[in-house]
Amino acid sequence: MPAPHALILGGTAEAQALATALTTTGTRVTTSLAGRVATPRTPPGELRIGGFGGAEGLARWMREHHVTALLDATHPFAHRISENAVKAAQNTGTPLIALRRPGWTPTPADHWHSVHTLAEAAALLPTLGQRIFLTTGRLGLSAFAPQDGADPLQDLWFLIRSVETPDPPTPRHYQLLLARGPFTLEGERDLLRAHRIDVLVTKDSGGPATAAKLTAARELGLPVVVVRRPDPPAGVRTAPDVQTVLALLSPAAADTYP
Ligand code: NAP
Repeated sequence: MPAPHALILGGTAEAQALATALTTTGTRVTTSLAGRVATPRTPPGELRIGGFGGAEGLARWMREHHVTALLDATHPFAHRISENAVKAAQNTGTPLIALRRPGWTPTPADHWHSVHTLAEAAALLPTLGQRIFLTTGRLGLSAFAPQDGADPLQDLWFLIRSVETPDPPTPRHYQLLLARGPFTLEGERDLLRAHRIDVLVTKDSGGPATAAKLTAARELGLPVVVVRRPDPPAGVRTAPDVQTVLALLSPAAADTYP
């Protein structure tokens, strides 16, 4: 029997919590980060940074490092690495568990507009307001930038919050707020008021760390454009929290997990 070695595909608070929980059980743990953030939080255990070179590169790394369990704790919108994880797990015969925090659900007091892409979100904005709080991260902002001279969003102003500075193209008029969650309700309320925000745009990331903006928007009666998650890869065992992953990894569950 090879010594247990869990490879966590990370980049989320849950991945950090999973690494913490697993290392305390004595399991060898390596967390892998894409390398998008210059100063990432350092998880306990071993750390590697950078892409693997597709599913084949990931499978190669897993073989070379004798990985016995692959734990996909990436962000729900990071679908390429999750698809690579499925292929690499199949190619190496390694058990795979995806840790996916549940998405957010609206209350009757919310005014949510569900869309499937950032482009759909952009198309909706002029009908909803002029001062936009954009919290979808630094990637994909070209959806809100002028396209080939045309700019249906030219009268809109954006407050863009992200961990790192976005690359161009970006919206015509914007202010950048560099910040990393968790965010408090009081802080989010103040932010929406101070910038006289009309509309919030968010991905359906789920989890408590960035949920306060939804409560603040509800309190102020603001519309929220919510970008829905991409479909997860089919046939993967999924756990909603760290405790469930640990339970699935326990020897007692060995007969039941793939
Ligand atoms: P993605 O589109 O699914 O992945 C693109 C490529 O980046 C992958 O093919 C892989 O390169 C590399 N990669 C991604 N995650 C990796 C990891 N944990 N370790 C090593 N390589 C990784 O991912 P993304 O949307 O750009 O997100 C990148 C990272 O940021 C993810 O780890 C995710 O957890 C985190 N994140 C994403 C979001 C979001 O909204 N997308 C939000 C918060 C955090 P190779 O093919 O070369 O292996």
